[in-house]
Amino acid sequence: MMAQYLEIKEQYPHALLFYRMGDFYEMFFKDAEEAAQALDIALTKRGKHLGEDIAMCGVPVHSAENYLLTLIRKGFRVAVCEQMEDPAEAKKRGSKSVVRRDVVRLVTPGTLTEDSLLEARRHNFLAAYAEMRDGAALAWVDISTGAFHVMPLAAVKLGPELARLTPSELLVSEADEPGLRALGEDFGISLTPLARASYDTASATKRLTELFRVGTLDSYGQFTRPEVSAMGALVDYLEITQKGKLPLLRPPVREAMEGTVQIDAATRRNLEITHAMTGGRAGSLLQAIDRTVTPLGARLLERRVASPSRSLTVITERLDAVDYAHSNTRTAADLRALLRKVPDLDRALSRLSLERGGPRDLTAIRNALSQAEQLAARLGNASSLPQLLAKSAHAFSGQEALHALLDVALVAEPPLLARDGGFIAKGFHEELDEVRRLRDEGRGVVAAMQGRYAEETGINSLKIKHNNVLGYFIEVTATHGDKMLSPPLSERFKHRQTTANQLRFTTPELSDLETRILNAAGQAQGIEQQLFAQLREKVLEAAPALTQLSQALAEFDLATGLADLSRSDNWVRPKVDMSRSLRIDAGRHPVVEQALRREGAPFIANDCALMPDGPHSAAIWLLTGPNMAGKSTFLRQNALIALLAQMGSHVPADGAHIGLVSQIFSRVGASDDLARGRSTFMVEMVETAAILNQADDRALVILDEIGRGTATYDGLSIAWATLEHLHETNRARALFATHYHEMTQLSKRLSGVENATVSVREHEGEVIFLHEVRMGAADRSYGVQVAKLAGLPDSVVARAREVLASLEDNARKGGGNPRAVIDDLPLFAAAPPPPPAPNIPPQMLAVSELLSEVHPDDLSPREALEVLYRLKEAA
Ligand code: ADP
Repeated sequence: MMAQYLEIKEQYPHALLFYRMGDFYEMFFKDAEEAAQALDIALTKRGKHLGEDIAMCGVPVHSAENYLLTLIRKGFRVAVCEQMEDPAEAKKRGSKSVVRRDVVRLVTPGTLTEDSLLEARRHNFLAAYAEMRDGAALAWVDISTGAFHVMPLAAVKLGPELARLTPSELLVSEADEPGLRALGEDFGISLTPLARASYDTASATKRLTELFRVGTLDSYGQFTRPEVSAMGALVDYLEITQKGKLPLLRPPVREAMEGTVQIDAATRRNLEITHAMTGGRAGSLLQAIDRTVTPLGARLLERRVASPSRSLTVITERLDAVDYAHSNTRTAADLRALLRKVPDLDRALSRLSLERGGPRDLTAIRNALSQAEQLAARLGNASSLPQLLAKSAHAFSGQEALHALLDVALVAEPPLLARDGGFIAKGFHEELDEVRRLRDEGRGVVAAMQGRYAEETGINSLKIKHNNVLGYFIEVTATHGDKMLSPPLSERFKHRQTTANQLRFTTPELSDLETRILNAAGQAQGIEQQLFAQLREKVLEAAPALTQLSQALAEFDLATGLADLSRSDNWVRPKVDMSRSLRIDAGRHPVVEQALRREGAPFIANDCALMPDGPHSAAIWLLTGPNMAGKSTFLRQNALIALLAQMGSHVPADGAHIGLVSQIFSRVGASDDLARGRSTFMVEMVETAAILNQADDRALVILDEIGRGTATYDGLSIAWATLEHLHETNRARALFATHYHEMTQLSKRLSGVENATVSVREHEGEVIFLHEVRMGAADRSYGVQVAKLAGLPDSVVARAREVLASLEDNARKGGGNPRAVIDDLPLFAAAPPPPPAPNIPPQMLAVSELLSEVHPDDLSPREALEVLYRLKEAA
């Protein structure tokens, strides 16, 4: 057995091998050590190999999915090795023969299909990246839905595309892997290096044409060499991991960069589109707008929000669909009630295609068809529907035959596994009903036989029992042993076994009955398996129609969900056109508004009016105002409203006019970005450079406190020059928040720049935040008041006021050398800090000494962490 194990293991050096032994998957050697630690299970020993103990651990087959999940989350891959024959068959070949085993599947993050391993409301993409001399390409597939996409891209666009798709696994060629490792880590994507052969374009073409049974790939469009190579690598990898069973891949769809709003990784993070800063879904835009009631709709929403459209036709079609649901309240409510019962059709279908499905996947299809028919009935004549919904509604009918078949074939609530049987309904298959009757009656006959034997022998406690070793047997307690073992009873009852307290017997009559029962049960099981396979075939024949159905269901779910949101939260349909306006009346931030609502606080709505082509021609607003006034919120809400409009949703405002946006950029000054742990100022500059190099005249740029990561004058100069470049060269629409008041001067020099400020009121030395955006520049920065709010000691606040007053006074008088003002300031008047108490323990002194050497502003996050460790040591 060990020889067999080692031979199989050799083929999967990069995976843990789950080696099936009876009811367990066992792991050995290093696999066992790693798995035991990752899963927190006991590590044991079994036999010796080359004189050393063999480490071993195992997980029960019936709960293996949970363990798999943990292992995959921790970055492992798992090769599942099954017994390919009955142990009895192996024995027939000879007593030393080992059961044949083979790996049936390689489980990796991008190839999961089990519901328990997947998030229902998120896609799980497997992507492949190919880079060649003549360009690069990215292909991706969701094997749980079969959707297959590809796009050519410049190598520098890989990051933004990965940020958009967030695949869980990325295939790369061995040669490219080292260069891409950092990118993978950045996005939390597991990188899988493949041999060069997987990327070979000639074999890729062959693989793809065979898979889709076409003579040439041109049937699906003109693909570049890198595209073909990336698609080929994907298919090759699926063949390897699924052991030749391919999921129901749909023909590849080419996605054009030009089709969607370009949003890079930093912007996505910053706007918290699909993931909040904390990494989860909670707190993201996606979470705030998700009112879908099916996993199909939820995943479509995720796709849409991650890739807003740049096509007016597409946007208008989607908005029309939302409008329909918005104005037909009753119908929409009924549709949603029906949709609520729609199961995850896509994932059921994919499991069936991979021969990993069970009876419940068949019932999922049945239930989806049943809901679809009811939806069709509720919609009636589809002529009044807007185009997108009318197209979708077609898919709701046409599968009545399949539905009727599944309806009569399956019980209402079947068991999970096909081999358990019991999922085919009574009356569907005559022979099955017949053998089931035999099997069940057999059990009744056993009971009758037991009664008869008890009477005949006069032993009331006589029982007929069953176990796996003896099969059916008659059992009496030891006290009746003598009676049973002597004539006349001994002539009829043949002794089989004596245990501590019991004696066991059989009779020819019982053996005969047993054979009949066993045969019937086995036959019933066999017939059910066959029927399962037949039904599965029927479903797979209808796969293209079912895929369309699932898209249609998702479309209806999304439109009615967005309409529901719009109605309950008072959103409006935006006007989207080819102008370059960004005019939003009384706009709100969808996520902040919801958060405030939960606290019972109101959100102050604000207008935005960037209209480069209008009479005032303002393309850029320069926003000043104290910290905490609401600048960032305002900036982001406008970007989110544009994004929502272009994904085809209503928006949180009283009115919105969005001239088509091609790109969205959002950057925050470095100090807000500490959590990401990078050399901050450099990153900020690199990212700003990316905007200035890429933004076109349809871009929307949001810059929040750019330049803050460095000394004042450097920062101001950089912010200044950036704004000028955006205005003169990029000619983009932009919202620019800054605390450099000097910049408000720019509005006088640049025609397209206007000043706006978030107003605050001062009341008895305290700041009251009004969160109102109005035109004009903030008169002062209020930093001192905010410092007070933040809990700075009173003495410090008072002193700061004093310094500020002198500086301001100086400025009013014509602004001489500030140095002189500072020299003139009275000395700091606060009481000196109390001297350290005499009995401070020496380790505390060490800590304080350490601290005195530390300059927080000079530390990278990593260095800061080291200081923490040293402090901990010293204390
Ligand atoms: P800034 O960028 O000016 O420092 P933020 O945009 O971070 O300020 O806003 C600070 C806080 O003020 C937010 O956490 C939010 O709770 C609140 N806030 C911001 N804008 C509004 C608004 N329009 N209405 C109500 N509360 C707001």
